[in-house]
Amino acid sequence: MFNAYGKRAADRCRALGKPPYSESSEYLFRAYLSNEYKQSQHAVAQWMNQAGMTTHIDPAGNLVGRYAGRTKNDPILIIGSHLDTVRNGGCFDGNLGIMLGIEVIDYFNRQQKRFPFAIDVIAFGDEEGSRFPMAMLTSKSVAGVLNTLPQGLKDKKGISIEQAFKDFGLDYRNIQKARYYSENVIGYLEAHIEQGPVLESEGLPLGIVTGIAAQYRFQILINGQAGHSGTTSMNLRKDAMAGAAEIIYLSEQYVKEAEQEGVVITTGQITVTPGAPNVIAEQVVFSVDLRAPTDEKRNEFAEQFEQIVEKICQKRCLDHEFLIQHDLSASLCDKNLMSLLEQAIQHLKLPVRYLTSGAGHDAMILSHLAPTAMLFIQSPNGISHSPKETVRYEDVTAALQTMIHFIELKEDNI
Ligand SMILES: [Zn+2]
Repeated sequence: MFNAYGKRAADRCRALGKPPYSESSEYLFRAYLSNEYKQSQHAVAQWMNQAGMTTHIDPAGNLVGRYAGRTKNDPILIIGSHLDTVRNGGCFDGNLGIMLGIEVIDYFNRQQKRFPFAIDVIAFGDEEGSRFPMAMLTSKSVAGVLNTLPQGLKDKKGISIEQAFKDFGLDYRNIQKARYYSENVIGYLEAHIEQGPVLESEGLPLGIVTGIAAQYRFQILINGQAGHSGTTSMNLRKDAMAGAAEIIYLSEQYVKEAEQEGVVITTGQITVTPGAPNVIAEQVVFSVDLRAPTDEKRNEFAEQFEQIVEKICQKRCLDHEFLIQHDLSASLCDKNLMSLLEQAIQHLKLPVRYLTSGAGHDAMILSHLAPTAMLFIQSPNGISHSPKETVRYEDVTAALQTMIHFIELKEDNI
């Protein structure tokens, strides 16, 4: 029986990997508040209803399924993960955690089992920053940490977030109303693919996450001067592209020396203006994603990075601007909930493995609201954010059984 549930969870992720749930049949992309996103919400809401949940769209555009407790005023246990994807992403990232939440509820509902707490399965809308240059907007809304309304957010087509909300049938000004209150929430559980090679290398299906790395995401804008590539002599140039390249290279070198300390830096996005082969670049905008196990380490490297940018820009007579797009502190999972996960894994006679997450997840935001636990599922070949991302059915089934037992244990530990 568990095998069939596990298989269905994985198969549903695959089904959501294609149109109308993806922007294209060639690749998977589902952006927050897009049409594909809306279509996916419809499909997932149906599955939630079939599993015995009532559903609604919250003011942040998240899909919420509720499995009622024994009484109306019961506290809430949240199970969640994200429905949006990166461009050309894999279908299990985020989505699997939602599908597993639905299977958990289906299992309990079939037995007409109710708990002294309600269970909300939340399909978060924006974890990846899939549409607007700001990630985890929707879990921030739910966790109540969105103190001010981010202004001026626009998607790549120039559509403002206010307009996107309107087109979706919501009002952006109400986004903070999606919040839950700490006194009502007893915990948050998220299952997610590992997105790395550790579990596979040790032949393990599951891992318990101890915490999530601190992150910064910057956008750096370098301004130089356009000029003819044939007539402007090399030492008179203000070449924004060469400056950006030097910054990226030097910061990589600097961080590489510290890699054993778990610090990683990445530039995955770059835009060059005017962007012609025979014109010196006038402006370059590039992303920098910096992660470290602790806030102190992250801040230390961010400072070093800023110094590199200043030094190179001064040397090359370039101007620059920094924009912090994403600032997340390291977060720790809850000791009690981790021990419940440990007992649930031992119950399956599987080895217990603890690991830190280098990737950010909604769980790190939710840790501001409630005690948090996270379960990692093996990623074959360690691949994620790629169409090659996959899972093994037996691992998904083991995750499902762990989550079910976790909730049964939580009932005794409330
Ligand atoms: Zn994810």
